[in-house]
Amino acid sequence: MASHNLLLLPGDGIGPEIMGEAKGILNWFGKRGIASFETETALVGGASYDACGKAISEDTMKLADQADAVLFGAVGGPKWDGVPYDARPEAGLLRLRKDLGLFANLRPAICYPALADASSLKRDVVEGLDILILRELTGGVYFGEPKEIVTLENGEKRAVDTQLYTTHEIERIARVAFDLARTRRNKVSSAEKRNVMKSGVLWNQVVTKIGKEEYPDVQLEHVLADNCAMQLVRWPKQYDVIVCDNLFGDILSDVAAMLTGSLGMLPSASLGAPDPTTGQRKSLYEPVHGSAPDIAGRSLANPIAMIASVGMALRYSFGLGEAADLLDKAIANVLATGTRTKDIAEKGSNAVSTQEMGAAILKEL
Ligand code: ATP
Ligand code: MG
Repeated sequence: MASHNLLLLPGDGIGPEIMGEAKGILNWFGKRGIASFETETALVGGASYDACGKAISEDTMKLADQADAVLFGAVGGPKWDGVPYDARPEAGLLRLRKDLGLFANLRPAICYPALADASSLKRDVVEGLDILILRELTGGVYFGEPKEIVTLENGEKRAVDTQLYTTHEIERIARVAFDLARTRRNKVSSAEKRNVMKSGVLWNQVVTKIGKEEYPDVQLEHVLADNCAMQLVRWPKQYDVIVCDNLFGDILSDVAAMLTGSLGMLPSASLGAPDPTTGQRKSLYEPVHGSAPDIAGRSLANPIAMIASVGMALRYSFGLGEAADLLDKAIANVLATGTRTKDIAEKGSNAVSTQEMGAAILKEL
């Protein structure tokens, strides 16, 4: 049985609490002989700043680079509001994404039948929803140069952001989208704004070419990003994989998140390019939510987003799709029995603790 080397970065706030439950799940798979994990734990975010004055240390960066995958909790909190910009807790996560080259951000939006009434939309619109937003994470308007505010001669100011994509950047995210679609319902929807943006024109051309030449078996459709936002709220089940740039992905994945109920339910994966010789990708798995300082240290956090992130690691880094399916099924079954943490419980009804939710999922496994 192959052994996988995982770096655990619990971080701040509820990070350590939910990471504790993720560890329990990893141990279970180890004990059952399904997979074996070697884990190492290190500091990131505010916890790292307190220890060494940096949001992530060089030693930890080295561990992340050597690991088969990184499991990340959450960072930040009011305690670190005043720290220097470059040492702010979020800088640790941004450095990891950038230095590990994690260009592909996978955000599944799954609506468990038991939670369909917690969605902002009607039950029949979201029940059984299982879509995946694939966001390009290291390019586009977030990083394009020039990026500046300039004062003009007449005293007026001018702000510039640059939306910039190369063929290579679009090709590699397109391939991830098509590969993912093949493991799902075989459909890719590519969202851009080719009607007003040159980057949208190139995006559309490159995705079309990759689809035709390399993935003729996968259904491809193009949708304008604004229309996609509307369609997500109108009838989201028409989608399987939605692929888009950094900015549209940021917005569309937040829209999709609201279809599913609670922030405490949403996992994510960030993947790098496959190594040309080994085929291995750098990868980081984390819940979509933040460190929730308002509930930290009180065993109130929902650990499902973190536990489902472990499931994504099993699926996308370790080739353990069946184990991931088993874990997803256990989560769905536990929810079906009515077990709820406070964020997903109906007002006035009983809620379980972080640890009780973790234990219930283990028992169901
Ligand atoms: P960030 O900027 O790091 O994304 P944020 O400001 O978006 O953070 P979160 O930390 O995600 O905020 O918290 C938003 C709200 O959702 C808070 O009220 C928090 O308590 C709640 N919340 C977030 N994650 C969970 C969770 N796992 N379980 C229960 N409640 C959660
Ligand atoms: Mg947030």
